Order: sequence, then structure tokens, then C-alpha cells
Amino acid sequence: MSELSLAYIFHNHQLMVDDNLELPRVEQLADDLSFSCDEQVIARDLHVQEAIPEGYQLVPIRQLISQWSKPQFEKASRALQLLEWRRNHGFCSHCGHATEVHPTEYAMVCPACNYHQYPRVQPCVITVITRGEDEILLAKNASNSSNIYGLIAGFVEVGETLEEAVQRETLEEVGLNIKNIQYLASQPWPFPSNLMIAFRAEYESGDLVLQEQEISDAQFFKFDQLPEIPFSGSIAHAMIQHVIHNRAISE
Ligand SMILES: [Zn+2]
Repeated sequence: MSELSLAYIFHNHQLMVDDNLELPRVEQLADDLSFSCDEQVIARDLHVQEAIPEGYQLVPIRQLISQWSKPQFEKASRALQLLEWRRNHGFCSHCGHATEVHPTEYAMVCPACNYHQYPRVQPCVITVITRGEDEILLAKNASNSSNIYGLIAGFVEVGETLEEAVQRETLEEVGLNIKNIQYLASQPWPFPSNLMIAFRAEYESGDLVLQEQEISDAQFFKFDQLPEIPFSGSIAHAMIQHVIHNRAISE
């Protein structure tokens, strides 16, 4: 039997894969983050001066999203988030002492005060808003130089329900009131550690007034006259396809 582990080896938001986008198998090192799936899996950063083996290359993770299957991407997303969490929790946030890896749980433990730090996900709502039978609201992000029009999204604030977050973000970003808010689906999104929670809603009232630091343009587009939309594999893409073609969001 092979002692080799399936390896997620990251470097600057890229992942090491072969020409068929398959992961390498490597010998596990003592400080590797290992987690159990259906087989032995490790995740780590590319070591300083570690050579990329023949036949392998570093591919941007965002590119893999559209080429890998959903389960494949979700496993990589988990590896990336756990690794990032471990990297960012080397010290106790309570007393500042260096932490240790818990032997059996996903926890970084402080040997001085016993405070346990667990991985956190950040809930983020994303909403597809329709008006009438054939119009969809799409917005262009001010910080993005591309011509892609996406959906209204934002982080859930402390003390807020998901539905309140959907209403607040829509009002803040485009000045609209919405109704009939319905949950659609969710997607873990490892940039850096978000859980995207998808809703659909209908336009109720108000004129488009943009929050200019965040949104450079927003319009209601006819279903058959869409601008460039987010790439396949993103939940925004699936949500837009869902309202326009009544296509299921997750397979
Ligand atoms: Zn501590």
C-alpha cells in the first residue's frame, strides 16, 4: 500500500496540479495539516525553494473552480480554508501565547490559558433581484476593473438575520426596497473564508441610487439582453441561470 497522501500544495492562491489538473501524491511531513476525507489528504504551503516536480504546475484556484467538479472544488476549498486558518492562528487571541495544534479536532489551543480557537466562516448574503417577468438587477463592482455585472452581496452584520442583511445590503448599495425574499442555496467560498448564502427577491419600490464606493453601475436588464456575467462555477452565475432559465442551482 502506498504511504503517500493526496496533497493540496498552495502558493499565492495557486495550487499545484498536473497537466490533467490532478493533485500530486507526496510523503506526509510532520507539520503538514492532514484531514480525513475518503483517503489521507494533506494541505500545506509550497516550501521556500521547493521545486515544482516535472509535469506539475501552479494554477490559480479561481481557474480551477470552473474546470473542476463541484465536490472536487469543495474539497480544495476546505483544504485552503483550514490551512489559512491555521496560518492565522499561531498565537492565542486571548493572552498572546504561541498556540499548539489540537491532536484530534480542528482547534488551535493555547497551552497557557487553554483558550481554543476554531475555524470560522463568515456568512455573506448574495441576492438575485427580479422585476416583473423578464428583468434582472445586475451591478458592477467599483473595485473591479472588468466589465462583469454581478449580484448584490455583502457580509451579515452582528445581530442581524439573513433576511435583514439582504434588505440592508440592497438598500445601501442600490437604494431599492425588495419583497418576497426566498432562500435558494449556499456555497463555501474560500476567498478567504466565506459562506455565500443565496437568496432571490422581487423589486418592490424605489429608484436606483448607487453607493458609489462599491457599485459603479447597476441596471435592470432584460433576460435576453444581459451584459457579461460572473463565470460558470460561481454561485452568482448559477443564480442568474436559475431565475432566467429556471435551472437548478446545485446538481
Ligand atoms: Zn492564551
